Amino acid sequence: MTLSTTHRPATDLGFLLHKNPARAQQVEVSTGTAHVFYPEATDERCTVALLLEVDPIALVRGNRGNEGFALGQHVNDRPYAASSLLAVALGKAFASARRGVSKERPDLVDQPLPLEVHLPALSCRGGAELAERFFAPLGWQVEARALPLDEQFPEWGDSRHVDLRLRGTQRLADAINQLYVALPVLDDAKHYWVSTDEIDKLLRAGSGWLATHPERELITQRYLAHQRSLAGQAMTRLAEVDDADTFDDAVAEVAEAPERPAPLARLRQEAVVAALRAAGAHRVLDLGCGAGALLPALLAESSFTEVVGVDVSSRALEVAARRLRLDRMPDRQRARVSLLQSALTYRDARLAGYDAAVLMEVVEHLDPDRLPALEHAVFAAAAPSTAVVTTPNAEHNVRYPALAGGGMRHRDHRFEWTRAEFAEWADGVAARRGYAVRYLGVGGDDPEVGPPTQLAVFTRTPGQEVAA
Ligand code: SAH
Repeated sequence: MTLSTTHRPATDLGFLLHKNPARAQQVEVSTGTAHVFYPEATDERCTVALLLEVDPIALVRGNRGNEGFALGQHVNDRPYAASSLLAVALGKAFASARRGVSKERPDLVDQPLPLEVHLPALSCRGGAELAERFFAPLGWQVEARALPLDEQFPEWGDSRHVDLRLRGTQRLADAINQLYVALPVLDDAKHYWVSTDEIDKLLRAGSGWLATHPERELITQRYLAHQRSLAGQAMTRLAEVDDADTFDDAVAEVAEAPERPAPLARLRQEAVVAALRAAGAHRVLDLGCGAGALLPALLAESSFTEVVGVDVSSRALEVAARRLRLDRMPDRQRARVSLLQSALTYRDARLAGYDAAVLMEVVEHLDPDRLPALEHAVFAAAAPSTAVVTTPNAEHNVRYPALAGGGMRHRDHRFEWTRAEFAEWADGVAARRGYAVRYLGVGGDDPEVGPPTQLAVFTRTPGQEVAA
């Protein structure tokens, strides 16, 4: 398989895949060795190739429950065609790209890129037509050509192999996840035992596209190797997914302790709105707004004349727009709100000059080494008069039964700060950028470990602005 981009600089592909274009790399999988290398890598165009070198002995050995000599075990298309074996290699070689994680290019992760995928010999039961039915609804331009069984004997007809080319503008993670599901589905022969955790794998890889795919039933049945009960369970879960939000984990609500009197999320929103009101803010930015948890509360407050939700994730913004029912909002209301895609680690002139900016449960989603970039973009370049920042108080985690043994409140959190650690960061920002800062707790102050959420209000001190 090859995958190319003409995004410039095209060599960013290497950062997104966590595979250096200058080096050929090997990844071991149960059926052999996967090679990752770049036939071309220039600023204009970059192509990565994934080649699975199948170990036929390992393949036969792994084929338990099928003992004894069978010609098919030894003579087959597996070493030569893209099949479910390649999907496993793809999943392993590009694991972080599939999850949409890139340390060096976090802002490219959610950006649709011009991509071209080529599978010169794809095992495809259902032929070119089925490949089209799989990929076209996902927005790909599909070029699929059935390969003849034998070029010397055209009268023998076509093989079940297809030369497939896909072109489209897609998030890289989506493209890889779609291929990861497509290969075994089109091949329609999985080489390993299908169990219930395959449902999780399918739903994870299908996040954001499978629930609404016109062929979701066929895809589910084939992926789960025609085991009716598994396919039934998966369809039920997909139907749920269809209504729910299927974007980043980052946006998912933090798990709260059940016995809490009012859900912490609501208390947090109220505390943020109260701080903004006290600051006399009118034009407000909700930075890292995610699915828009705070936006309705901001719009409910008539003193906020302009509300702007900002997030790096276009999927999160789509969900926010849907939840706010932007398309059905009365004009007067609609004029007060806008959604904007932007990365908070780069200065963005559109964010300058606001009365207030909120960073509600956002900083802990950034890698610590990106915090100086956020500090610069938000506190020096955008420089709102007031900034309200909330983040979990790590000390409080011992009060959550699920976290008693350690761990963080959310999978996507890169860190969680104690009160002292938060104050050290916030005091530093305030001193460097010309703000005064004060601290509040949200959700009931525990005498030993403090409140579950910590909140800081930054107020710009006139005359002390630091040059952006
Ligand atoms: N404020 C929301 C969402 C919190 S989740 C709430 O309280 O519910 C964190 C959000 O920050 C996610 O939506 C994520 O996409 C966004 N985010 C993370 N890093 C970002 C960055 N560098 N630039 C912009 N948004 C970012």
